[in-house]
Amino acid sequence: MYSTMSLIGRVRIPVEGVAVLILMLFSCQSGTDKLYKESKIVMGTVVEITVACHSEEQARAAITEAMGEFQRIDNLMSSYKPDSVVSRVNKAGSSAKVPVGEEIFSVISEAAAIGRASGGAFDATIWPVSQLWGFEQGGRIPTPDSIATKLPLVGYENVIIDDSELSVGFKVAGMGLDLGAIAKGWAVDVAMKKLIARGIRNAIIDAGGDLRVIGARPGKAFWRIGVQHPRDPGALLMTFELKDTAIVTSGDYERFFMAAGVRYHHILDPATGQPARGCQSVTVLAPTAAEADACATAAFVLGPARGLAFLRARPGVRGVIVGAGGEVQWTDEALAVMARQ
Ligand code: ADP
Ligand code: MG
Repeated sequence: MYSTMSLIGRVRIPVEGVAVLILMLFSCQSGTDKLYKESKIVMGTVVEITVACHSEEQARAAITEAMGEFQRIDNLMSSYKPDSVVSRVNKAGSSAKVPVGEEIFSVISEAAAIGRASGGAFDATIWPVSQLWGFEQGGRIPTPDSIATKLPLVGYENVIIDDSELSVGFKVAGMGLDLGAIAKGWAVDVAMKKLIARGIRNAIIDAGGDLRVIGARPGKAFWRIGVQHPRDPGALLMTFELKDTAIVTSGDYERFFMAAGVRYHHILDPATGQPARGCQSVTVLAPTAAEADACATAAFVLGPARGLAFLRARPGVRGVIVGAGGEVQWTDEALAVMARQ
């Protein structure tokens, strides 16, 4: 029930329910560029693309092409779509090596790298356990037995990747891939490349809190991006004035349900199979949305102290962590100064 409400909340953006809101004043533009904005529900979230362009025709064509990338990537990478390439890998069994193509291969390789760097806090083989929780269908509490049975199947180090044939397989029967914590970020990056190839130089792509900006708002030197308050859906925690960066938030308020006063949410600790308890939200700034997406999930699982250390160790990565008690911590003082609270 609660999780259904939270899902509906996601869909009702930009008013409420997602990690990042875009604040835009459509009046007071300067120059000849106008803003064009379209949104669509895809990959289980609202994807919103905003471009600044002098030509409406060019803007609309670019947005349509970029939007198409989200559907294409969902068709490839969703563990919930029975015909996706990832589902084929998940169904193939432990001995099979399934050719996945360059794109999925790159995502899996990046996921494995972040898995290693985070000491396994990020683990794209969480599928056997994430399936038990079923957050996509509203969520339920799995029995301790079922978690104990599935947890040994989680382990990114047991994925066999063969870069000569771009194939993927598993060392252990029953393993499965869940790219849910990186695929949306990847899609944002790919969609942004499409906008750039169509001559767009100033844009925002926001996939339900996985966001990337290029250039600036017409007449300004930046885009103003708001980060949602994790406990007050109507309020912003802070805003940033940003150019040419990805900014991604993972929060325990995005997909969750309540039972006996306890919040059960979709970011799972691979060590326990339970929702990670250290944070309310993590916002990461990074050069790409894929890296920011995976790092936000990893830092969330690591909790504030280890999460900040993990983010600080990555070149070009910065972030803000809201701990379980609501305390806000930053990777660096300059970022705290940049944010308007
Ligand atoms: P959102 O999808 O809301 O942006 P995240 O990027 O944090 O949030 O991804 C959460 C999703 O990633 C979950 O729904 C699940 O599919 C998957 N997931 C959950 N826990 C982990 C984890 N520890 N490592 C990798 N993927 C995870
Ligand atoms: Mg993520």
